[in-house]
Amino acid sequence: LKKYRYADLTWPEIKEYSKQNRVVIFPIGMIEDHGPHLPVDSDSRSVEEICDRVGKTAPDEVLVIPTLPYGFSPHHMDFPGPLTIRGNLLTEVVFDVCKSLIHHGFHKIALVNNHGSNGCWLEAAARMVVVEHPDTQCAKVDWWTLREFKEAFAKVRESEAPGGVSHACEIETSLYLYLRPEMVDMKKAVKDISFPKSDHFWFDMAGTGPGGGGKDSSAFMMEYWSTLSKTGIMGDATKGTAEKGKIILDSIVEGIVNVVRELRDRPIRQRVDHH
Ligand SMILES: [Zn+2]
Repeated sequence: LKKYRYADLTWPEIKEYSKQNRVVIFPIGMIEDHGPHLPVDSDSRSVEEICDRVGKTAPDEVLVIPTLPYGFSPHHMDFPGPLTIRGNLLTEVVFDVCKSLIHHGFHKIALVNNHGSNGCWLEAAARMVVVEHPDTQCAKVDWWTLREFKEAFAKVRESEAPGGVSHACEIETSLYLYLRPEMVDMKKAVKDISFPKSDHFWFDMAGTGPGGGGKDSSAFMMEYWSTLSKTGIMGDATKGTAEKGKIILDSIVEGIVNVVRELRDRPIRQRVDHH
């Protein structure tokens, strides 16, 4: 039995693992409304499964810590469900957990994010870890920006672009249908692309649209969700299938395993003070 879950280890095992140049995987999700057809744990459930499969794929190279299920989503509070925490608090919680890991001897950390609005706060945490602990590398990964995912999803995408994939959409519905079909009510899945769209303002988590942008449009603004969506869905949930869910999940796991291996091999160079 190869253990890759931090929570399963004893303290002597954690001591041993800390000497193996493992990448610690920190899954970060969210509890929030995901349309009338998906449970509110969509982001947390998905990221936990993704990271667990990364652990199963590379059990000697990673260590997966427990998922943080809460994140930043004040703009969703017009819908029942979101358990939002302040952004600066999210940054600080993640930073403190990383500091604890560093104290125990781990120096490679990947923050794996499943919720768009956590992104900037997690990037801040990753940056703070690196500047305050130059002996450590801490990266943030928004999985929908991975090349492995984008290439795989482009082949199976059926929803319109831009707009078909953003929230509780073709992608998120497919993932949940694959992971827990009994919890999805596809009779309530709808297409809701009612946000105002223009050349430099659009949403699409696969980054397909006019005016450039790798994820969403190059001019980015997050308004209250109830002004952007009537149902809580942003995208086309009717195009979700379990088959696509498997393809999406496999591609994300492949992408994160690749990131992990690059991070393991990446040298931690000495700083040079040129004063
Ligand atoms: Zn989501």
